[in-house]
Amino acid sequence: MANQTRTRPETAVVEWFAGHISSPVARLRFLQAAMHAHPPARPRGRFRKLRVWVAIPVLLSLVFATRPPPGKRLRAADPDASPLTTASVRPAAVRVTPLPEIWQVEKTKTWETFSNGLRIDDRFAISTHRRSYLAFPVSGPVDARGERRTTPAGIVYHTTESLQVPFVASENSTLERIGESLLNFVKHKRAYNFVIDRFGRVFRVVQESDAANHAGYSVWADPQWVYLNLNESFLAVAFETRTLPGQADATVNPAQIRSAAMLTEVLRRRYGIAAGNCVTHGQVSVNPSGLRVGFHQDWASSFPFDQLGLPDNYAAPLPAVSLFGFEYDSDFERKAGALLYRQAQFGERELRDRAAKARLPLPVYRKALQNRYHSWLAIVRRDATRPEEDE
Ligand SMILES: [Zn+2]
Repeated sequence: MANQTRTRPETAVVEWFAGHISSPVARLRFLQAAMHAHPPARPRGRFRKLRVWVAIPVLLSLVFATRPPPGKRLRAADPDASPLTTASVRPAAVRVTPLPEIWQVEKTKTWETFSNGLRIDDRFAISTHRRSYLAFPVSGPVDARGERRTTPAGIVYHTTESLQVPFVASENSTLERIGESLLNFVKHKRAYNFVIDRFGRVFRVVQESDAANHAGYSVWADPQWVYLNLNESFLAVAFETRTLPGQADATVNPAQIRSAAMLTEVLRRRYGIAAGNCVTHGQVSVNPSGLRVGFHQDWASSFPFDQLGLPDNYAAPLPAVSLFGFEYDSDFERKAGALLYRQAQFGERELRDRAAKARLPLPVYRKALQNRYHSWLAIVRRDATRPEEDE
């Protein structure tokens, strides 16, 4: 009979759907499923066509639910996934909470680890002399005597300005050799408390309890206290890298930044160091005799404070300028870069405001602050166990 040779309507629909499945494997599975779902006996009555349209989506879901397309297999939170898929694979619920405390996990003769992930290598550690210094009240008189302290008040970040080779795997042995000779040099010079090498490894050199020869008679202040001998009062953390005058970009790698952030976290908690007292050598360095800021320029305008979990310490007035009337020459902007130059300008603005409040001409007010600096510096120099100039 004529209608026995014609394609049945439901078969035509199945073939039409199959023709739109691009994957041969999926197409075959679909057709196999369709064969099982449609026995030869024709359904009766007017519900026949309806059953075809109900069966097609069911078949499609059977084919694709058992073997989803490759791009969707690992996507746990796919909004298009079937209820079966979303019920069995859920997005990972990871909660990162701030550390309530950090503690020493393990200590051997050659290294130390902390609960925040920091590892300190002690193979180059040495002692110098115990830290001891005088801190002066910010608004103290010219004859203030200072308060005795023995714990570090801050951190100065340095660059080693040492030899650099390309940071690539083929230079690995050279990188290691240069790093080791740098550590021996720092040890010999007693230059820093910590060195972070180019692989991000943290080395303790001068013991934390001891002074290192890193910043001499540099100047920094927090809202209450002034510090004039940073070898004694601030810890030194040096990155194995070089910076160029006025450079805006950091020249460290991510491993060094991660280690510096962990080290900063440990040191700040251990000694109660204020975030505002974590500063760069470029910010604190002065020429005491010439009363000029910016004697050294390492990390002058390029320090990544935010990546170490610190506030932007370039935004505060430069203490040497605002509290002691230090000056800077026309070359300072080029050498120090935009951020440190702006910080010195903030200091100068504050100095002018104070002079106006005191109803004194700026040169007179500046001279009075410089006299106070010389008086306090003389006290500090007499007090210093081993005075070392930062010049
Ligand atoms: Zn330095």
